[in-house]
Amino acid sequence: MTTTSMTTQHQIAMVMDLNKCIGCQTCSMACKTLWTRDEGMGYMWWNTVNTMPGAGTPHHWEQMGGGYKDKVAQVGHLPTRKEYGDAWEFTHENQFDADPVEGTHLTFKGERPEWGPNWDEDQGKGEYPNGYYFYLPRICNHCTNAACKEACPRGAIEKRAEDGIVTINQDRCRGYRYCQPACPYKKIYYNQITKTSQKCVFCFPRVDEGVAPACARQCPGRVRFVGYLDDKSGPIYKLVKQWKVALPLHPEYGTEPNVFYVPPIAPPKFDEHGNLDESTPRIPDEYLVSLFGPEVLDVLKRIKGEMKKTHDGGKSELLNVLIAHEWKHMFGGLDRDPATVPQAGGMQSQALDYKPNRSTPKAMPAGAQPLVFHPGQRAK
Ligand code: SF4
Ligand code: SF4
Repeated sequence: MTTTSMTTQHQIAMVMDLNKCIGCQTCSMACKTLWTRDEGMGYMWWNTVNTMPGAGTPHHWEQMGGGYKDKVAQVGHLPTRKEYGDAWEFTHENQFDADPVEGTHLTFKGERPEWGPNWDEDQGKGEYPNGYYFYLPRICNHCTNAACKEACPRGAIEKRAEDGIVTINQDRCRGYRYCQPACPYKKIYYNQITKTSQKCVFCFPRVDEGVAPACARQCPGRVRFVGYLDDKSGPIYKLVKQWKVALPLHPEYGTEPNVFYVPPIAPPKFDEHGNLDESTPRIPDEYLVSLFGPEVLDVLKRIKGEMKKTHDGGKSELLNVLIAHEWKHMFGGLDRDPATVPQAGGMQSQALDYKPNRSTPKAMPAGAQPLVFHPGQRAK
């Protein structure tokens, strides 16, 4: 049992159906335009969508350590700005000025970039005609056993009691950056202007008003389900607990993520004669197991079983939920129209009122001790 799980009343969570993600980055832009427009946030993408198999964002984040092994905190790497990819500037003036420089092409300014979010888009793996890839959207997992929170010597990282959303109190943060290597998902960014760490806030000002996070509401693929893990009538409970078809990414990292994924089902392979061969999966089982753990194989069997049922003329409640005929049913009650929130200018200005750079000062809870992190420390 962890400190964080003991204090959370109703854990909010997200399920992303990887069979429906089209890699359009609408979620990334919805988040970017809402939350990371201030100074020092240019290179931040709290929501990323990478092609898998791929090195991801930051570059090779899966090999950067952090999290827990057998409940013991692991040493992690502090990602560099280069590994995230910078907020590149381009020579737009050469193209759009009244007097463009002849013979010049749109290019970057300064040092040649070597990596960035979505750098290896659509590369994937495998040989023609059996190549494969899928898209993996990622946000902070608002973990039950949040390694970032345990690592912060200032007690600046908070897990909200009412819904388990993990936030960084900008007034308490001093930019020590212990949280970044501690997070095994590398979902924390450092703002060099404010000298504080910043991350996804699960759109809590929207959630507080009954509105789903922007990445979920704006997703054209209807990929993202939102709700509370203990709400038996909501989609999250059904997908994670009842039908058990949604799994956390890298459960072995030990932080108990609250973002879950319905694993991807690829089309069959072609054999040497060009015929469909169902006997070996196009996405290797071992790759999916490395991402989602051994349970993923049973999950795939379960979903394929339901698909066969409907193919044979039957009905599947699971597939009906996954298809999301009615988008409002995806949000577990958080389906309020943002335009109806009684704030000047509607939801957008309300959400923008919360600036990660300018959060309301909060007092340290009575009797609370700052948590000091050592790499070998045991998780509570
Ligand atoms: Fe597009 Fe939705 Fe996938 Fe984001 S999660 S890339 S919005 S389909
Ligand atoms: Fe913290 Fe990382 Fe978990 Fe988010 S994903 S709560 S930043 S450990």
